[in-house]
Order: sequence, then structure tokens, then C-alpha cells
Amino acid sequence: MKSVCVYCGSSAGRRESHSDAVFDLARSLVARGLSLVYGGASIGIMGMIADAVLERGGKVVGVIPEALLRKEVVHDGLTELHVTGSMQERKSRMAELSDGFIALPGGIGTFEEIFEVWSWARLGFHSKPCGLLNIQGYYDHLARFLDHAVEEAYIQPRFRDMLMVENEPGVLLDRFQSYRPSGA
Ligand code: AMP
Repeated sequence: MKSVCVYCGSSAGRRESHSDAVFDLARSLVARGLSLVYGGASIGIMGMIADAVLERGGKVVGVIPEALLRKEVVHDGLTELHVTGSMQERKSRMAELSDGFIALPGGIGTFEEIFEVWSWARLGFHSKPCGLLNIQGYYDHLARFLDHAVEEAYIQPRFRDMLMVENEPGVLLDRFQSYRPSGA
């Protein structure tokens, strides 16, 4: 694994303690020599993770659609910036450039992005690991709902297992590094 895509909020949320967890993830990525691929913005948790990786000497690749260059306030200090023509192109580019996908706390965009790559994994379109970094229980309710979907026989257990849920970045990255997909 060389690079990990992190999906996260364009908002900062309201818990200061979330930023400590973001720094932990940045530290873990840099310590393992993994570069960060993310949405290219300087705001919210997105800006926080990019700054934290750069400050620790890591490599950060941003991918942003032209239409959001202003709205999401593009980060001007990235190692590499890709500007795409559309949101779809942004997501495909992020997926191509990454060897695994993590969602930190975020909102609608974050959910959509991690669910899309998880659904691609389930269909066998790629064999890269996907996970939720469950900072301070942010994703507890979602994880319970996904288990409910398994109980109701709408998701097979082996596909549910393709979306890892961990509280610690180091544990999640260890699981990524030993990941073998069960196959669609
Ligand atoms: P949010 O979690 O809603 O704060 O959004 C996080 C990131 O997801 C931002 O960079 C949004 O531009 C992006 N985003 C929102 N909706 C989509 C979408 N449909 N496709 C791709 N990215 C999106």
C-alpha cells in the first residue's frame, strides 16, 4: 500500500477532541510512509488532515472538481493538486490514486463517497480495503444499522465485513495492510 484516500467533513464538527484523532491518523499515515489522497479543500476536517500530514513531512494529493475550487476553498500548499471536470471524475480519480479508503467523521458527501467505494468493492470492481474510523463513536449508529441490514438479509455478512469499523487509526491501517477481499 502506498496511498490512502480519506473522506471527511468539509465542516469541522463541534468536538475539539475530533481533531486529536485526526492528528493520530496523520501520524499513522506518515509513520507508515503512506501518502494521503483527499478532496483538496482547506476547510473543515478536510483541511485539518491535509495540514496535519504536511506538517509531519508527508505527501498529500488533493482532487477537487473545478466547480468547487472556490466554494470549498482549495488548499494551496499540497504536494499535488488534480482539478477535475466533474464530481464523478473526482471520485474516480481519487479511487484510482488510492490503495484503500477511510471515512473520518463527515456529512452527506463523506457518506456518499465511502458507500460508493464500498459498493464497488462488494461488486468486485476493485479489491482495496474500506473502513470507517469511528472516532468517539461517531459511526456507532451507522454500524448498528448496517448490522440490522445483515439481520434483515439485505446485506450478506461477507459484504458487511468489507467495511471495517475501528476506533484506532493504527488498528485500521494494520487491517488494511493484511486485507484479502472475500470476493464478490
Ligand atoms: P461533507 O461530508 O458533506 O462535508 O462533504 C465532504 C466532501 O464530499 C466535500 O468535498 C464535498 O464536496 C464532497 N461531496 C459532496 N457530495 C458529493 C458527491 N455527490 N460526489 C462527490 N463528492 C461529494
